[in-house]
Formats: sequence, C-alpha cells, structure tokens
Amino acid sequence: MRAVVVNGTRDVSVEKVADPVLAGPDGAIVQVTASALCGSDLHFYEGEFPAVGLRPGHEVVGTVVEVGADVGRIAVGDRVLVSPVIGCGRCAGCRAGNPIDCVGGGVRVLGGDVGLPGGHAEAVAVPAADAWLLPVPEDVSVDHAVLLTDALPTGWTAATRADISPGATVLVIGLGPVGLYALQAAQVLGAGRILAADRVPERLAMAERLGAEPIDATRGDLAEQVRAATGGLGADAVIEAVGQDATLSAAIASVRSSGTVSVVGVDANFAFPIAVPLLLIRNVTLRFTTAPVAATWPTLIPLIRYGRLIPVDVFTHRMPLSEAAAGYRTFADRTDGCLKVLFDPTR
Ligand code: NAD
Ligand code: ZN
Repeated sequence: MRAVVVNGTRDVSVEKVADPVLAGPDGAIVQVTASALCGSDLHFYEGEFPAVGLRPGHEVVGTVVEVGADVGRIAVGDRVLVSPVIGCGRCAGCRAGNPIDCVGGGVRVLGGDVGLPGGHAEAVAVPAADAWLLPVPEDVSVDHAVLLTDALPTGWTAATRADISPGATVLVIGLGPVGLYALQAAQVLGAGRILAADRVPERLAMAERLGAEPIDATRGDLAEQVRAATGGLGADAVIEAVGQDATLSAAIASVRSSGTVSVVGVDANFAFPIAVPLLLIRNVTLRFTTAPVAATWPTLIPLIRYGRLIPVDVFTHRMPLSEAAAGYRTFADRTDGCLKVLFDPTR
C-alpha cells in the first residue's frame, strides 16, 4: 500500500510500504477513507522531535477490513472513528475509558512513534480495536468524524480542564483547529468574554466571527495586551494551543491570580523554566493534557447532534494522498489560507 514516510526535516514522501498486519488477536485493520493533517504532525515535519522513518497520521476514519479473533464489538464492514490515543485496552485505566491512565504498557499515539505506523496511508493497524474504534453514527458527517478523532476532543478537553465558570473571561492562545474548537468549547461551557490570540490574520478573523475578541500577537507583548484588555487583572482561564516556549510563557503571564492555565500545545522543550515562586504566590493552576479522545465521544457526539456545538469548518484543503508532500508544505507554511488538510487515500 502507499503511506507517508518522514525522511527528515521538512521532507516527507509517499512510499510503497508493506500492508499492515493485525497487532494481535484484539487488533483490527482499517482501510482509511479520510485522514487529516494536524499541528502535531508538524512537530515531526519541522524536526522538533526526531522522526526519520516515522509514518505519521493520527486523524483517521475508515472501514474495518479485518479483525482479530478476540474482537467482539467491531466487525468487518463497520465505518469507524479511530482514537489515535491508545492504551492496552485491558487494564483498569483503559477499561474506565481513559488510555492516558493505561498501566498495561502505557499510552501511545498512532503515528506518534516508529513502532505504531499512522494513518496518512491507505490502511492502518489499530491495537485493542474494541476500545479504540467506534462505529460512526449515521448522522455524523465524514468531516465531523475526522474532527472527532483529535481536533474537537483536544479543544474540548483543553476547555474542560481550564476551570471555566459561567461568565468567565477566557483567553485562547493559538487559533489553529485545536484553538478554534477550544474557543467553541469555552462558549458551550458558559464563558462570558473570550479573547483569542494568533499571528495569522485569517485565523483572528475567524475567531472574531465566532464571537471572540481578536488579539494580534504580532502587535507587541501578548500578556501586556491581555492585561490592558482586562483592567490589569488577566484572564480567568487561559488555553494554550500553540506549543512553544513563548506562548506557554505568555499563557502563564496572562492568567489572573487564582486562575487556571490549560495547556494542550505540544512544546518539545523538556526543560521549560517555570517561575515557581510567581505561580505559588498567585495561586495559579497549571494543567497539561493529552486528550483522552475516545472518552470524549459520548459527550461530543450529542453536543454536535443536537446543535449545541456546531464545529466551525476548518478544512480549507482537500487533496489526494499522492500530493501529501505539497500538503505538508502548504500546511506548515500556512500559505494559501491553509488551516487544515484532508487527504483522500484512494487517490
Ligand atoms: P496549528 O499549527 O494549526 O495551530 C497553531 C496556531 O498557533 C497557528 O494558528 C499559529 O499561527 C499560532 N501561533 C504560532 N505562534 C504563535 C504565537 N507566537 N502567538 C500566537 N499564536 C501563535 O495546530 P493545531 O492542529 O491547531 O494544534 C495546536 C497545538 O495543539 C499543536 O502544538 C499540536 O501539537 C497540539 N495538539 C495537542 C493535542 C493534545 O492531545 N494535547 C492534540 C492535538 C494537537
Ligand atoms: Zn492531531
């Protein structure tokens, strides 16, 4: 089959690779019908995490074409959502629905390490299929299904972990799909005022159309702009959806005393300096989160179904998988108004 392979920094190509095989008797093979590019793929593409030989792609929907002997809930022919965040599926943590708590080998991300090839490919092997696949409900569109594999769960989880009380002032830093969905989630959770920061004019405009107040991060210090907008207080809740030292620092500097910073942006810095005394004296809560994707589906699917959450359309680019190298480049450079790319692996 064909799959995207990372060859080096800013170098990916579509290669002929071996067809996936079952990860074990609890595994399944999913033929991919659509897969999307995410900001997380850029950390590999830009060389922030070493990734030569990695097969990326963790936002996948498809059709089950093979199941192992122990799979019971999922059958060949099912159209499924794939949770890219995967645990053993059997331990207490996984059985409670949260792969982050997996103690049977620990949490892994599809397309996140060389040993677990991802879904920018014609097909993908999913371990513990009963736990991490869900038949797509009839009334969920393909676009929404793809978004439910990562961007929506991550935005939602970022907001739920930001301690947003009704009427609160929320700052969202980073208005890629994850930040935009965090913004919409904050609205569902009752935020009053939402400040939304980015550097890209179209993304700021999109946040403004959604009812937020844009803050252009290219116009001087972000935290100063937030303090100026809040009478010196800062935001009650801050969501960091970029993943850089500068934006993480800005998030911490923008939160009010006794407020919460909820971080989902993936900063590759293992030694980020935290000014402990400042956080301590100001009673700041700091949370870091990997979205427990499958655990969010029972919440997000009804919110979408009954129109409480109408995910803003983010797919600006739809292209054949064969053009993945160009797709990665356009997405990384944020040229051509690119916000999110959807690949068609049949072409
Ligand atoms: P994206 O690349 O589309 O969005 C990032 C946004 O940050 C862009 O709009 C960019 O213009 C903006 N930005 C960059 N520098 C900035 C600055 N200095 N100030 C303000 N804005 C700035 O990515 P995405 O798909 O929306 O993902 C966002 C982040 O979330 C990434 O780091 C990604 O790895 C991470 N992520 C985390 C999880 C999780 O489970 N924790 C899941 C998915 C994505
Ligand atoms: Zn993702």
